Amino acid sequence: MDLLVEKIHNGTVIDRIEAFSSLRVLEILNLNSKNKDSSKYRIAAVINVPSKKLGKKDILKIEGKTLSPDEVNKIALISPSATVNLIENEKVASKNTVTLPKEISKIASCPNPNCVSHNNKSISRFQNEDGNLRCRFCERVFEANELIL
Ligand code: ZN
Repeated sequence: MDLLVEKIHNGTVIDRIEAFSSLRVLEILNLNSKNKDSSKYRIAAVINVPSKKLGKKDILKIEGKTLSPDEVNKIALISPSATVNLIENEKVASKNTVTLPKEISKIASCPNPNCVSHNNKSISRFQNEDGNLRCRFCERVFEANELIL
């Protein structure tokens, strides 16, 4: 694996992402061409490499960006198995697992086609009830991976 990507100096390594999910993780962190701020980060995506725990996994290395706790927890919507290591001076400064936030607002829209927040992320709100997410508008309960990102 190390032969693919150089070490990062300061930034974030997101490890144990479900295979082929890393691009969706970038999307949910708003690291994409739509966000001008993204151009200052160097990002490596390592996709579908062997993992002892998962069989196969993705890894993201983001040089120059430290994720906030909120950003870390957004990742749980896509890959609850992920771990997030913050790197300072080439050393792991902290290791975090992701947890689904108590409330998820304006990140994902509701899968229910009859719901007012179905195609409208900007108003969407879900409440975390023991790992399932209840839509504030239609009150249906969904699993995290059912939400539309
Ligand atoms: Zn809904």
